[in-house]
Amino acid sequence: MKIYNTLTRKKEEFVPLEEGKVRMYVCGPTVYNYIHIGNARPMIVFDTVRRYLEHKGYAVNYVSNFTDVDDKIIKKANEEGVEPSVISERYIEEARKDMESLNVREATCHPKATEEIDGMIEMIRTLIEKGHAYEVNGTVYFKTRSFADYGKLSKKNIDDLQAGHRDIKVTGEDGKKDPLDFVLWKPKKEGEPSWPSPWGEGRPGWHIECSEMSKKYLGEQIDIHAGGEDLIFPHHENEIAQSEACNDKEFARYWMHNGFLNIDNVKMSKSLGNFFTVREIGEKYDLQVLRFFMLSAHYRSPLNFSAELMAAAKNGLDRILTAVDRLKSVDGVDREPDAGEVAQLEALKGLCEKFDKAMDDDFNTADAVSAIFEMVKLANVSVNNDSSNVFVKKVLMTIVEYCDIIGVITDKKEEMLDADIEALINERQAARKAKNFARADEIRQQLLDQGIILEDTREGVKWKRA
Ligand SMILES: [Zn+2]
Repeated sequence: MKIYNTLTRKKEEFVPLEEGKVRMYVCGPTVYNYIHIGNARPMIVFDTVRRYLEHKGYAVNYVSNFTDVDDKIIKKANEEGVEPSVISERYIEEARKDMESLNVREATCHPKATEEIDGMIEMIRTLIEKGHAYEVNGTVYFKTRSFADYGKLSKKNIDDLQAGHRDIKVTGEDGKKDPLDFVLWKPKKEGEPSWPSPWGEGRPGWHIECSEMSKKYLGEQIDIHAGGEDLIFPHHENEIAQSEACNDKEFARYWMHNGFLNIDNVKMSKSLGNFFTVREIGEKYDLQVLRFFMLSAHYRSPLNFSAELMAAAKNGLDRILTAVDRLKSVDGVDREPDAGEVAQLEALKGLCEKFDKAMDDDFNTADAVSAIFEMVKLANVSVNNDSSNVFVKKVLMTIVEYCDIIGVITDKKEEMLDADIEALINERQAARKAKNFARADEIRQQLLDQGIILEDTREGVKWKRA
């Protein structure tokens, strides 16, 4: 199996540190709002990588953090007049719900930065002792030039970086000895969360959080470190500097990065108004469609989100789900498979190999998905009520199994979309107004059958999923 390693800019044969085991760390979201579809891409991509590694027989220890102390969280907390932890806890809960809807499996461990402060302080202390960091007025900086390999991931030359930094003066960082140095620990500001440390009350810098959580839950050396390509510099470059300077060991063997997500060929940004949360997309589409859409391209390619491409993804997914539903309802014959069926099973095996071959080539999900489409075609053409039950079952199980490797759910009843629910509620209100109570009751029952519970309140009709 080959993985494209950002560190070497090459596809390399994957050899884990320990046979049969994979230690993998994926940088998680900063929880100050609902996750957006740019956050969803690494979640889906690396969940698929994990699922495939497990399919290959590896035991995967998969760690993905929540960054729950950050300027954006503090800002939001101040706006709402609550503690920052109220904001972070709320959006961790919401992120977990979205991940479930995207069929992103729970990590082996989801550490929170605020619960790991002691370990971060320990790492910073070691970096100071080894001469890689220094403290000025309660701020601790990493001495970037003390780490000879700085720039090896992003392929940036330290002297070019220096030139770029010459005129930049960041307020509050006057004590920096070198503009390239970055913050490991910052002193407390009024109204901000803080923890005691040997350098006074304060909080950690973002980069040290991941270095510490990766070390604590996976060890000093890991197999795969992953995230969006926007994290290569400075976040991952700084993680490497901190971890390797502290532990004197190569940090991660393989660095994986997913490409950008654009909206209608434009970069997603709040200021351009083309910014979507996963929750918003979930009001228009089943989130399984979003997952399937994201896997339709190679994870390293930029991906363009548009209504047309989502419609195409929905069609493709429907084709698979319709085939699976039909296979479930086929009433076959109790006999041994005949020669024709044996040949089809041989062809099916070939398609499984085709799927594996695509995934072995740096997780080419686009080609893996087309192997699944070929399985569906084989099923549509060769399975009918005259087929042997053994054959029907084998075809069904294979498609379900391979869909599961990419995280596509085949046995889920389609959930009603929020928009459809609202439309029915409006129709029910109109029916009641017209004194057509029979129709109103009928709609209430129809929604109940779908697990939607209505509640008539003073403020109008409220609904929830059972
Ligand atoms: Zn990180």
